[in-house]
Amino acid sequence: MPYLNITEVESAVASLATAYPGTSELLTLPEPSIEGRTAHALKIGAPAPVPKSCVMMIGGVHAREWGSCEILVHLAADLLEAQRDGTGLGYGGTVFTADQVRNLLQRLDLVFFPLVNPDGRLFSQTADPMWRKNRDPANAGGSTNPDCVGVDLNRNYDFLFDFATAFAPTATPQVSADPCDQQVYEGPSAFSEPETRNVRWLLDQFPRTGWFVDVHSYSQDMLYNWGDDENQSVTPAMNFRNSQYDGKRGLPGDVAYAEYIPKTDADTAVLLAEAFCQGLHGVRGLAYKPLSGFHLYPTSGTSDDYVFARHFVDPEQGKVLGFTVEWGTQFHPPWAEMQRIVLDVDAGLVRFCLATA
Ligand SMILES: [Zn+2]
Repeated sequence: MPYLNITEVESAVASLATAYPGTSELLTLPEPSIEGRTAHALKIGAPAPVPKSCVMMIGGVHAREWGSCEILVHLAADLLEAQRDGTGLGYGGTVFTADQVRNLLQRLDLVFFPLVNPDGRLFSQTADPMWRKNRDPANAGGSTNPDCVGVDLNRNYDFLFDFATAFAPTATPQVSADPCDQQVYEGPSAFSEPETRNVRWLLDQFPRTGWFVDVHSYSQDMLYNWGDDENQSVTPAMNFRNSQYDGKRGLPGDVAYAEYIPKTDADTAVLLAEAFCQGLHGVRGLAYKPLSGFHLYPTSGTSDDYVFARHFVDPEQGKVLGFTVEWGTQFHPPWAEMQRIVLDVDAGLVRFCLATA
């Protein structure tokens, strides 16, 4: 199998840290997975006299979306090699100069966490290719139904977790409180899973993170905040913390609710999503769409909305704009096509990082 297995993803991350000791740092996540696996992340960037802003990128959250790990491992390797050799980077028709690469790694720290859900990826690659959740049996209640194992990690973050209260009765958020939901079971409580607590820990370790990208598949989109409803920038009180709007969220095209996002943040989010799509388009002409998460489908408990929500809930936290890449048109493209998608998405991500300046 040309896709990396979980041992190979972990060893790729570790060998990059070994090969580039001056510009990378291996980070060990504190919580083992449900099945006891320790995960690692990689911080890359040129040493700097002052703390730098940070872009955090995670992948391998949904088990079956195999190529997400490869996308992040290759991007880290490409940037480290180009910086060491003083070269630029070329992805098909999208080209970055040596100056751009050097400036990027001087200005920013990039934190890559390519395999958030190792248990799920192993199960998907060896037992059930379409497996999505982690492998937590805790909420199966002794059921022998295999669907009752696991939590959808990208519904387990603390954002409108009580979706039954938050959303309108007629809304259709893609989330479930039923442990036997095969796809989108949110878990018994926000951050019930070690894998999502690891992501939260990583954010806490890098308080200067300003941008967060969660790499998923599929639909050829670049999603930005918010995912629970349409965006609005005129009524600050109409927001996810305000219980006055419980039972009103999640409906398209209505006036009862839209999620508040300050105008400058809304504009920046769109610009960055467009930059990603432009960089990607240059590789071989694919047209990914910049969309708010809600325009894919309404959600709660996702990583991108959680990271952006943090500074509204706690003003001590820095502001983090959240994004979700949805690469490709299937979960397991033939490897030859996946290699092209890696180039597409990595070009988009480099352009995205440059656009944060
Ligand atoms: Zn996904």
